[in-house]
Amino acid sequence: MSIRIHELARKIGMDNKELLSLLKERKFDVKSVSSTIDNISADALMTEFKGRFPGGEGDAPAPEAAPAPAASSAADVPAVDVAPSRSPIGAFVKTAAQVAQQKEAAKEAAKEAAKVAVSPVPAALAPAPVASVPAPSTPSVPRVMASLPPRISPPATPAAVVRPVAAPSPAPAPLPAPSPAPAPLPARSPIALPPIPAYAPRAPAPSPVSVKPHALPPTPGQTVASSSNITVTMEGETKVIHVKPPIVVRDFATHLGLKPFKLISEMMEMGIFASMTQSIDETVASKIAEKHGFLLDIKHRGDPTIQQAQKDKDKASKVVVEDESKFLVPRPPVVCILGHVDHGKTSLLDAIRKTGGITQHIGAYQIEFNDRKITFLDTPGHAAFTKMRARGANVTDIAVLVVAADDGFMPQTDEALKHAQDAKVTLLVAVNKMDVKGANLDQVKTQMQQRNIPPVDWGGEVEVVPVSALKGTGINELLEMIQLQADVLELKANPKAPSSGIVIESQIDVGRGPVATVIVQRGTLKVGDAIVCGQNWCKVRALFDDQGNNLKEALPATPVRVIGWSGTPESGAQFKAVKNAREAENLAEEEQQLARKATTTADAVPKEVSVATLFANIAATQQKTLKVIIKTDVFGSAEAVRNVLEGIKSAKVSLEIVSTDVGLITKNDVLMASASSALILGFNTKLETGVTPLAKHHGVRIETYGIIYELADQVRVMMADLLDPDTKELKTGAAEVRATFPLAKGFVAGCLVTEGKVNRNATARLRRGREIIHEGKVATLKRFKDDANEVRAGLECGIKLDDFNGYQSGDVIECFEIQKVRASL
Ligand code: GDP
Repeated sequence: MSIRIHELARKIGMDNKELLSLLKERKFDVKSVSSTIDNISADALMTEFKGRFPGGEGDAPAPEAAPAPAASSAADVPAVDVAPSRSPIGAFVKTAAQVAQQKEAAKEAAKEAAKVAVSPVPAALAPAPVASVPAPSTPSVPRVMASLPPRISPPATPAAVVRPVAAPSPAPAPLPAPSPAPAPLPARSPIALPPIPAYAPRAPAPSPVSVKPHALPPTPGQTVASSSNITVTMEGETKVIHVKPPIVVRDFATHLGLKPFKLISEMMEMGIFASMTQSIDETVASKIAEKHGFLLDIKHRGDPTIQQAQKDKDKASKVVVEDESKFLVPRPPVVCILGHVDHGKTSLLDAIRKTGGITQHIGAYQIEFNDRKITFLDTPGHAAFTKMRARGANVTDIAVLVVAADDGFMPQTDEALKHAQDAKVTLLVAVNKMDVKGANLDQVKTQMQQRNIPPVDWGGEVEVVPVSALKGTGINELLEMIQLQADVLELKANPKAPSSGIVIESQIDVGRGPVATVIVQRGTLKVGDAIVCGQNWCKVRALFDDQGNNLKEALPATPVRVIGWSGTPESGAQFKAVKNAREAENLAEEEQQLARKATTTADAVPKEVSVATLFANIAATQQKTLKVIIKTDVFGSAEAVRNVLEGIKSAKVSLEIVSTDVGLITKNDVLMASASSALILGFNTKLETGVTPLAKHHGVRIETYGIIYELADQVRVMMADLLDPDTKELKTGAAEVRATFPLAKGFVAGCLVTEGKVNRNATARLRRGREIIHEGKVATLKRFKDDANEVRAGLECGIKLDDFNGYQSGDVIECFEIQKVRASL
């Protein structure tokens, strides 16, 4: 039996990654938080960490402890909501409530633990030394961890050495010596908490060895690394870290040249538990610095050199706001759903959409689950995914590969898997249709094994979640798993940077003009912003979310419909914010000019041309071209259609495939067809709603087929139709001249119709033997004295051809029609 790391972490109450890093440190063969370890080791770890982490199973408070905070302080501890959520799935209600409860308990326990072991103790109650420790007022600190019990704490660092990163105290006094008396109990839970022991917060004694405050001022020009409050300089042979507290784990690790996890695990060995965003006690920091061959120079606020440095930094930060890690904030994951046709991608997207109450289709949507957001690309199938990737847009973080439980892996599943692997996105497998009779989860897992992506419970890395999109089961587990993977990815973005992102889809909306759904990747997109995207630009007039709500701004990973475009930008294209609308317009114009130049350069006739080339060029410019946009159900058929069409050869007409894509025929296809004067060929695919009227409006021809050779034949016909038709003569009748009679201003031939029929106004030719004497129309046709329209074989009649009078007996008048026939290719 084994247990996954994230499950164990939950049990212990430890952060997934911290546990993973610890296990790696201890040489366990683990790769991700989805990896497993044996139960014996897990039990040992549980025992080792029992009660050390808030929220862990071993951290069960005394019976009175749990209800006490909620009852005594309803204002800052929201009651756990166990009422049924809007989710249709009962299981989720339970899970979510449990999770919420667990979180609350964890929060509460963390608060209490912090009061006991770390710095923040209510000022009024705290003994003098504690009051000077900054309160944890920074909301960005995710978690506060308890220090170790004295049993494990090394004697040199008995004081709580980890405290949350806090807003700097305006006038921090040096931390005085610890009060010998135990700290009084916090007011809120007098029963639950143990008396504060000797390890209550107190001032660390400065290390006599390595802490040399102000001893070594930074030498200009010698800085080798810097961050917000840390610099490293070389003082002769010695590497000196100049730091202004708080000393944050992550920054400190970076400057020591360590991975943050490595530092965390080193601290664990010292009995100190801290997360990346927490600060380290100065004494401990000194020891660690020393261990790694650095000298620590701690500068406290108030030092004039610090104030100057701060001023300089403030000045600089106004100029370079971008990419500073301190501006990075967590962002939701962007997820896409891939898989074989009919395996339930659309149904799954719909089922998830329902959990978020999303009603609109804008190409992407965002749901909230367990109080956290997840963004889904609402275009199932890998066509959209690959199209975006082809344009260099890697908008997806996690790919959910849908495999039907009764069908298993199919060709498109493999194709999708390959795309996901190529894109190096995190993969999750959702085994759908678990409700059907032939559902076989093990078969899918075997197939995963065969494809070198073994499932986690078989010792691999890929999480498998059984679901039924139809019944709505397993959806919450899938969402939980997505969030877990997102945690591992530590997705972050800088909302303060100039905004940029990716266009998901665009169309022309009646009344709104061109509209594009975009996902902001960086920065915050706001109404009024000017953005440019290739040849299009936009002064953002309005933003709408997936529920049709008007937004003022969109944060990273938020899908949003943007109104105010000059045209429809292509899906997968990258947009970026610029200074103002004029700049956006100019940049778009430059792009257009470049595109025009590229076309004309390609079309240009070479300067020196031979007569032959000249004629060839003329012929080429006169050559007709049939342009087509191909849309098919799957990639395989797209290839097949392309191959068949490329096999059609003609000297007179050329065939140009403007694009080949998989999926429904969309309005975008129509706009593209209209712009490129192409027709749309659909193979085994259908039209999206609203496509037909739009096609009619733009005069775009759409043909759909189910048989490939029929499609090819029709394309041949369409190509031939571009050519001027060939003409063909069809003999309709003949008459022999027997006599001539004078009539009005000339002569009329008295004839016997020998074959077919003779019609008035028919085209006729007069033959004398082999010679053609005249060609013209039958101007007069008479039966006896009356005009006739038609005279059939065997009857006599009078014929006069226009502008001709020289008939002779024995001449033959042949009548014929000119028929237009389709030119051959
Ligand atoms: P896509 O082509 O991958 O988008 O597949 P769809 O979502 O269109 O689903 C294909 C068919 O499978 C539809 O008839 C769905 O009703 C059906 N389907 C989808 N999910 C499930 C499921 O969980 N159970 C069952 N029994 N049928 C499903």
